[in-house]
Amino acid sequence: MLSELSELQLLSIINGLLPVVLLALFWSWESWAAFKPVENKTRYRHAFHNLLLAILNTLFLGLLFGAAVEIASQWSLDHNWGLLNQLPLGTVGKTIFALILLDGWTFCWHWMNHRIPFFWRFHRMHHSDPYMDVSTATRFHWGELTFSTLFRLLLIPLLGLQAWQIIVYGMLVFLSTQFHHANISIGRADRFFRWLFVSPDMHKIHHSQLPHETNSNYSTVFSIWDRIAGTYRMRSDLKNIHFGLPDFDLPQWQTLLGMWKTPFSKKTQTKQDRK
Ligand SMILES: [Zn+2]
Repeated sequence: MLSELSELQLLSIINGLLPVVLLALFWSWESWAAFKPVENKTRYRHAFHNLLLAILNTLFLGLLFGAAVEIASQWSLDHNWGLLNQLPLGTVGKTIFALILLDGWTFCWHWMNHRIPFFWRFHRMHHSDPYMDVSTATRFHWGELTFSTLFRLLLIPLLGLQAWQIIVYGMLVFLSTQFHHANISIGRADRFFRWLFVSPDMHKIHHSQLPHETNSNYSTVFSIWDRIAGTYRMRSDLKNIHFGLPDFDLPQWQTLLGMWKTPFSKKTQTKQDRK
């Protein structure tokens, strides 16, 4: 049966299984050595809502966009469109370049989500989580995911990206985001890790309630983007960070319905309001 599958289908299956495997791995790590201990009942309820949201998001995006990425990348290849199709590089060189470009774009998109009030309405749902753990990595509003997928579909012909390169980058994103959202610490190794990659300590600051900290450390996989943009920020007393958003910390905003309603709330706690 395996021989009947195309390489792209096989990669898609691995891509589908990876978040589940990583979730189990980081959940076990959190159970064994939590950075901030959380009562079990709270921890399970919190993860249940976040993961239910993630499952529904996956079904929704699958229905809405299905094979769109594959069609767009095949089109750009057939028509010789996009930056990467013009470069005299081999497959490895093009793929490394594609991953760097995609991560640079993800940094810009994340920055836009904080700086443009309309996008912040959706993205603030990710930040309204008062308990940051591995389940926070997949806590995004369907509105934000729809916009990010539409932008990425535009990026495919512009950059000449292949469907499998996008899947490989997606796997890197899962690995990085589940790791840096997890309620864990890698201790002194963090300072070396974050030279190149976004680390758990670095991302904890991004989820702080303090606006100048929320509006920093936007990178997703490689940490270099924040250093280039001057948005890199660190602090030493990480245990004192309060996660979440003061306007959305009541339990009513943490249910599935509450999370869905967050962008449409009159509480317009935009980046500008929170300066
Ligand atoms: Zn953010």
